[in-house]
Amino acid sequence: QKPVPSDIVISRSCIPKTIDRLAREVGLLSDEVELYGKTKAKVQLSIMERLKSQPDGKYVVVTGITPTPLGEGKSTTTIGLVQAMGAHMKLNVFACVRQPSQGPTFGIKGGAAGGGYSQVIPMEEFNLHLTGDIHAITAANNLVAAAIDARMFHEFTQSDKALYNRLVPLSGGERKFSSVQINRLKKLGIDKTDPSTLTDDELSRFSRLDIDPASITWQRVLDTNDRFLRKITIGQSPTEKGYTREAQFDITVASEIMAVLALTSSLKDMRQRLAKMVVATSRSGEPITTEDLGVSGALTVLMKDAIKPNLMQTLEGTPVFVHAGPFANIAHGNSSILADKIALKLVGPDGFVVTEAGFGADIGMEKFFNIKCRYSGLRPHVVVLVATVRALKMHGGGPTVAAGMPLPKEYIEENLELLKNGCSNMRKQIENAKHFGVPVVVAVNAFKTDTEAELDLICNMAKAAGAFDAVHCSHWAEGGAGAVALGQAVQKASEAPSNFKFLYDLDLSIADKIRIIAQKIYGADDIELLPEAQRKVELYTKQGFGKLPICMAKTHLSLSHEADKKGVPTGFVLPIRDIRASVGAGFLYPLVGTVRAHGGSLYKDHYLLGKKEKP
Ligand code: ADP
Repeated sequence: QKPVPSDIVISRSCIPKTIDRLAREVGLLSDEVELYGKTKAKVQLSIMERLKSQPDGKYVVVTGITPTPLGEGKSTTTIGLVQAMGAHMKLNVFACVRQPSQGPTFGIKGGAAGGGYSQVIPMEEFNLHLTGDIHAITAANNLVAAAIDARMFHEFTQSDKALYNRLVPLSGGERKFSSVQINRLKKLGIDKTDPSTLTDDELSRFSRLDIDPASITWQRVLDTNDRFLRKITIGQSPTEKGYTREAQFDITVASEIMAVLALTSSLKDMRQRLAKMVVATSRSGEPITTEDLGVSGALTVLMKDAIKPNLMQTLEGTPVFVHAGPFANIAHGNSSILADKIALKLVGPDGFVVTEAGFGADIGMEKFFNIKCRYSGLRPHVVVLVATVRALKMHGGGPTVAAGMPLPKEYIEENLELLKNGCSNMRKQIENAKHFGVPVVVAVNAFKTDTEAELDLICNMAKAAGAFDAVHCSHWAEGGAGAVALGQAVQKASEAPSNFKFLYDLDLSIADKIRIIAQKIYGADDIELLPEAQRKVELYTKQGFGKLPICMAKTHLSLSHEADKKGVPTGFVLPIRDIRASVGAGFLYPLVGTVRAHGGSLYKDHYLLGKKEKP
């Protein structure tokens, strides 16, 4: 239909098949499926056991050139590609995408269901609430936040004995340690299981976490961009006796629990990751975990349904898993390992799973390989790199565009010179994918103002830069039929030898790992660790977290740390301002330049507690 109607009009004009029918079509048994109405269902993890001897399908990751405000269409291409391979090439396929946060959905970005005739439907179900996974994360995250402040408050206001009585309640006239508490005693070097044998000193050490308020890294979260909660003062009720502190709300998808959900491989593994999350440091320098706070079991119960992937469908009735949506700066920006694993089993050895990595290839793809594939053990067969004429023109020196303003003529008229210049960014991102030894297919997502000569120029430049193949596609305007050439190229590339390797070894020092990413992927001359980052390198190395992979929190709008440097910036030193740890999720995240977490500042809060001496 021309002109192409709006995304919501297209989405609403299509009547989805009932989700139980789709579930049967993809080979799910009825007792493996939990229906959430007629268009969404959760899939139980027991399926992994049933299909464990089934060989996996081919694994394809969709990424892009360095993003611009003009949009590249990675989600649209992910959906268009599975529609082409599933509905037109008659292959078994699955798309695995992230669940969007309400913040960006109601903000400038809008939803993330794809666009035009390549979408996940129904759009409203996809973009809002889904099956409540994000709400479960909000609940779990805020339980931890409440436990931190309550614990500090009690430690400041109560004696050792009163604290101990609160922690180890009387049952049947006797006090008994829980298994978690026995673990904690062991960690403290106290090898006792009978509470009555603790000395006064042991009782005090057991009862007090002695959290250093200035070291708290755990924030409250909400899945709304509520700017007036970015910085708040908590504890203002008289019952808190004047113990106030400055705190903040981040957006829910920035919670470490979201990253845990995306990287976990089983309920047991999730339980362990949720227990290992570090929320602060004690005054003597020990990491304080959610296990120390005694809430990790409750977190697991709150997350027990969220761990199951959500089944939906595209406009052309092909299956989609929507599961987890960690941000791509302070987290790794990829949908869940569990959804990919289940999908790879369901499609079988001749089928394809197309999963999407957020931001550009320097960020989402690098983290897909170095973090997600490291934890999943899965080996990708093909990288699809999405490029557009307009975005490459901006990388080639085209004017910046203001939101809501008409596009300057450079972007709507043929301009091969600008485009050719901008292809340097694509060339660098192809090179980045090739560092990992995986074949790259460039998908040029065509807009209606693009000319044949422009689309061909990109394809030729891509092949000259070492892409396995490059094709233009029109799935936004035509649905899966417009991406069949892309599907065929991906199928061919999946048969080419793939020689996957990680970019760095985990045993290297923290600084060396950061330097390798900065030099090889971003093209930096070197890195500079600013004093706070240097302090964290020492702290994390001492605390035993030095072997974790690295998750760079860098602007996505440039290969460098400066958002306005387009194309391929050179001659820069990458400043690392600070480093944070997501120990449960399993990575360290250096803060590069001035990047901020979505929904709130990443600066540490100043704690106002402690004016009063301990009792
Ligand atoms: P990304 O995943 O890279 O952020 P999306 O796939 O979400 O990008 O697309 C961003 C927006 O651009 C969507 O609203 C989508 O409808 C629109 N879009 C994508 N491809 C095209 C195209 N070829 N023509 C017109 N609009 C497009």
